[in-house]
Amino acid sequence: MSRRLVLEELIRSAPISQADVVRRTGLSRATVASVVTELTAEGRLVTVDGPAPNGRGRPPRLLQPHAGSGVVAGLDLGHSHLAIAVADLTGTLLAETRTPMNIDASADAAIDTAVTSLQKMLGELAAGGELGAPKSIVIGVPGPIDSTTGQLRSGTVLSGWVGVQPAEEFSRRLGQPVVLENDANLGAIGEYTYGRGRGIDNLLYVKVSSGIGAGMILNGELYRGSRGTAGEIGHVQVSEDGPLCRCGSRGCLETQSSAEAALALLRQTHGPQMTLEDAIAIVRAGDPGAVRLFTDMGTAIGRVVAAVSANLDPQLVVVGGPMVDDPGPLLAGITAAVRRYTQPYVSSQLVVAGGQLHQRAGLLGAVAMATQLATAP
Ligand SMILES: [Zn+2]
Repeated sequence: MSRRLVLEELIRSAPISQADVVRRTGLSRATVASVVTELTAEGRLVTVDGPAPNGRGRPPRLLQPHAGSGVVAGLDLGHSHLAIAVADLTGTLLAETRTPMNIDASADAAIDTAVTSLQKMLGELAAGGELGAPKSIVIGVPGPIDSTTGQLRSGTVLSGWVGVQPAEEFSRRLGQPVVLENDANLGAIGEYTYGRGRGIDNLLYVKVSSGIGAGMILNGELYRGSRGTAGEIGHVQVSEDGPLCRCGSRGCLETQSSAEAALALLRQTHGPQMTLEDAIAIVRAGDPGAVRLFTDMGTAIGRVVAAVSANLDPQLVVVGGPMVDDPGPLLAGITAAVRRYTQPYVSSQLVVAGGQLHQRAGLLGAVAMATQLATAP
């Protein structure tokens, strides 16, 4: 447990002084000292010189996980993109790409493209030398993962993926195991490790995209629920006799407040060709109808976030996804509703903010999780 806490702190904050590791982990100085000695002897940790205070005097000694001992890979598959990153074991990115891709049409084609692109990236990084296979690979997908089977709960989100076993398909093509994870969960880990949520152990990450999902960090750990579907706030019912949802229920939050729902309404007033990029552009330009729509969607999402916050008492709600600007009407709607529908005691402590990592949150979360898996004792 102490080893894991120290390693996680190093990955999150390196280079970091031993005193800061003591402060941030809450472990005793003696415990941290013995773990550091152990990790150094195993070659998993090196000591580097930090910048001298005021540019003079003895530079502080800082700890850093050893970078030369392997790489990890993170992938983020979205409804319209494929993003890939390779990092060293400290979580420092070595390469990153993001390309537009329709993954819904064919799972087979999407998996082939993802595997080929990752192998090309690894080949380029090795540059003729020996890089070795990634120590771990984490792949984010836009749907809930059933934790009893490790599989995407097909049919709920990705129409072209019904019956496909993505973890097995990736493993077979790559010749090594992979870990599948829900995209909102990875967004939460990304913002917690590298972004707005650094150092905040109780936070919600809400992703507003084609669907709506939340990732929860509780007491510094990702919370997945008993079967992996915790945080599916897009399927909270907000209207008893609302539109049918792809999940089989009616009047779910995402039938009225997702990108799909926004486009369905905007196409009636602004023309059938409207894309999500167009919608975001007219909101930024101040189009009154579009601003009203985004604000109302934010209000509906905020009511559900308020209920979740009343239950979980988080310190921070980070809102991510392509439609969210900070400041912007969607975030303003969410913030106002959270203020209005939580008890004053909860809302006075709770910060609602846009993400710092923007569209990279899921990818960086995949890298962070892969780094944790690769360096776990
Ligand atoms: Zn639903």
